Amino acid sequence: MKDRKLLMIPGPVEFTPQVLRAMGMATTSHVAPNFVEVFGQALERLRQVFLCPSGQPFVVAGSGTLAMDIAAANLVEPGDRALVVNTGYFSDRFAAVLERYGAAVTQVRAPAVGDAPSLSEVEAALRAGGGYKLMTVTHVDTSTAVKVDVRGLAALGREHGALVVVDGVCSVAGEEMRQEEWGIDLALTASQKAVGVPPGLALVMAGPRAIEAFRGRSTPVASYYSDWASWLPIMEAYLARRPSYFGTPPVNLLWALNVSLGQILEEGMEACFDRHRRLSTALKAAIRALGMEQVPVRPELGATTLTAPYYPEGVDRAVLGQIKQAGVILAGGLHPVIKGRYFRIGHMGAVTESDVLATVGAIEKGLAQAGYQFPAGAGLIAAQATFTAG
Ligand code: PMP
Repeated sequence: MKDRKLLMIPGPVEFTPQVLRAMGMATTSHVAPNFVEVFGQALERLRQVFLCPSGQPFVVAGSGTLAMDIAAANLVEPGDRALVVNTGYFSDRFAAVLERYGAAVTQVRAPAVGDAPSLSEVEAALRAGGGYKLMTVTHVDTSTAVKVDVRGLAALGREHGALVVVDGVCSVAGEEMRQEEWGIDLALTASQKAVGVPPGLALVMAGPRAIEAFRGRSTPVASYYSDWASWLPIMEAYLARRPSYFGTPPVNLLWALNVSLGQILEEGMEACFDRHRRLSTALKAAIRALGMEQVPVRPELGATTLTAPYYPEGVDRAVLGQIKQAGVILAGGLHPVIKGRYFRIGHMGAVTESDVLATVGAIEKGLAQAGYQFPAGAGLIAAQATFTAG
């Protein structure tokens, strides 16, 4: 019997066999002609996945937090003012990273956990601030499954002269995000989420205004490793299919990245966004049918890549062990205020309808074992109804 469990957490996610094969192949030299081609191609494909044809991609060994560090280190100079649109744990982290590089940070906070600041609150903050160098937005806060209106926020940031920086770690290649069209100056993610590659790559896409702001700095970048002065020539070289060296690239991860980006683009960005929407709608319908509330306080705030249900009355995190026994690994709560009261289901990357049905089935089995009363199969019926309705 297979003892494999389905990994439905908010990253790392399930990876395709083709991606995993690339991870296991014989490692090439980082200056081998076939690797140079693959690195160059992956950088070009990133522009298509971020929907940012004139962006400058950066791929650096590290996690999503490094991508945040790269954004802050290169765009912030000591004393610069930054506005953080705060929707939870990872927005707090962005504020801390910005402060580390000397930014004076102002935060617009959500009125409650599971909520997001409104566009008018953000606009009022931008107006009252009288000039921010940059504004950060967490597209999907992975601690709450709250998604913000990045398009509306980016337009506001631009209108008020701020560079718009989007933490897309839990969104890029899953949630609809059109970097160039929406006026986002820098977007970032990490390999292990919707991009579909094992952990280890920080992915940053800088638009022309972000690069211009970097070039116009009057102080050196305070981080040696994150400095674009070192990485920009490397990325430009690989894009031009020339080998180059600053720090050894994680060769197998890059082969895997190129495979995964190829698969995403083969599906097509619109189809990929649609599939994520369909899966999310079905899963959320199942959660509702099982009588569970969700952390986002209004349906339109709910992420497409992630679902965060509260445990029902009489059930606690022990149910995650029972769900795991039933074959599916889910994640516990993360937001400190509600940590023990909810759990998280990631559904991004190469997920399918059958993964969602398997997940709902395992949740039902776990809940039943935990003694929770519900009409048997209610979640599965709701999810299937969504799928069969098209
Ligand atoms: N931002 C968001 C929205 C995230 O979800 C995460 C990871 N869960 C991070 C940043 C940090 O990424 P990493 O764990 O890869 O450092």
